[in-house]
Amino acid sequence: MIPLFEVYPQMAATCPHLPLAELPTPVQRLQRLGAALGIDLFIKRDDLASVYYGGNKVRKLEFVLAEAQRRGVGTIITFGRAGTNHGVATAVFAAPLNIHTICLLLPQPNTAAVRQNLLLMLAHGAELHQFPSKRRLVAGAVWQAVKRTAVDRRPPLLLEAGGSTPLGTLGYVNAAFELRQQIEAGECPEPDLIYVAAGTLGTAVGLILGCQLAGLKSRVVAVRVVETEYANPHLMARLFHKTAMVIHSFAPVIHNFHRFEEKFDWREGFFGAGYGVYTQGGETAVGQMQELEAIPLEGTYTGKTLAALMFDAENGRLAGKTVLFWNTYNSRPVPHHIAHTNYCQLPAAFHPYFASSTTCAAKS
Ligand SMILES: *Cc1c(COP(=O)(O)O)cnc(C)c1O
Repeated sequence: MIPLFEVYPQMAATCPHLPLAELPTPVQRLQRLGAALGIDLFIKRDDLASVYYGGNKVRKLEFVLAEAQRRGVGTIITFGRAGTNHGVATAVFAAPLNIHTICLLLPQPNTAAVRQNLLLMLAHGAELHQFPSKRRLVAGAVWQAVKRTAVDRRPPLLLEAGGSTPLGTLGYVNAAFELRQQIEAGECPEPDLIYVAAGTLGTAVGLILGCQLAGLKSRVVAVRVVETEYANPHLMARLFHKTAMVIHSFAPVIHNFHRFEEKFDWREGFFGAGYGVYTQGGETAVGQMQELEAIPLEGTYTGKTLAALMFDAENGRLAGKTVLFWNTYNSRPVPHHIAHTNYCQLPAAFHPYFASSTTCAAKS
């Protein structure tokens, strides 16, 4: 049984949950990087959360897809940017449940990671559409929902970007209880600080709520890596209270959540020029993690988050503290045949992400 259900047994009977992830994910000391920074540093390896596709989206999908299955939906329509890890994870884990995935996407700066994820979504049967603006995307969502209702004879599930619904956020409430078990088993000391990326916020909010419920003293440091319209303390508070209410609906949890705002640090200043635009600090952090610990990160989320941690270490703010870096990126290698899929099978709107975009034969 997952740690959350062990603590709240009433939830086990009523809360939808599918065991998709390989849990617990390891927690390890980062000996060399910690020594280089002069701090006691650990990592939570959610990059290993699944052999099919690791990273932080699996834990959310355990709850989101269980609910989709319970409702009997035939299609999930979800949202993101062209290189969305959430889109990949949804396609990977929904397909075996016979749920069709449609990803409605906004453009993002081109990188190798973007191209790889587009091919991964394609290989896992996702239907992809790109829109030049948010307004067009909303119109596209309405059209797709109508279309799929006719095809499936029932409405699709509209899943918000990143899977950060209150139900999805339970994945990270559970993760905090999982961490507590690992602390109790002596696998790592109780962290003073947990550094984590703040994107659609489900990960950070789930950990804050989970640490509070689990009685951990650990303070979450949420590093903003998306635009403030998507990630800000106000939205954090809203998701926090909605998630607490969802838990309460399954199990009557008595807890004082009013002091939420004091329970985490909000970090600005590492976002850089825009979403998906790599920063110097982020690139240095990715390089250090690869060189010293052989763990791959990327420049959009985890690089910027580790850059904040390294900045704080270098400025003496982490002296004497036990610090946990929560790795949210997938480290499972992409199968060779997928890495070499022909991008011409993607809709034409995505061809410019691939170098020689003029080589595809015109679609008849
Ligand atoms: C989605 C994602 C995040 C952000 O997590 P949220 O729960 O959306 O805040 C962080 N890192 C990686 C690699 C991601 O794909």
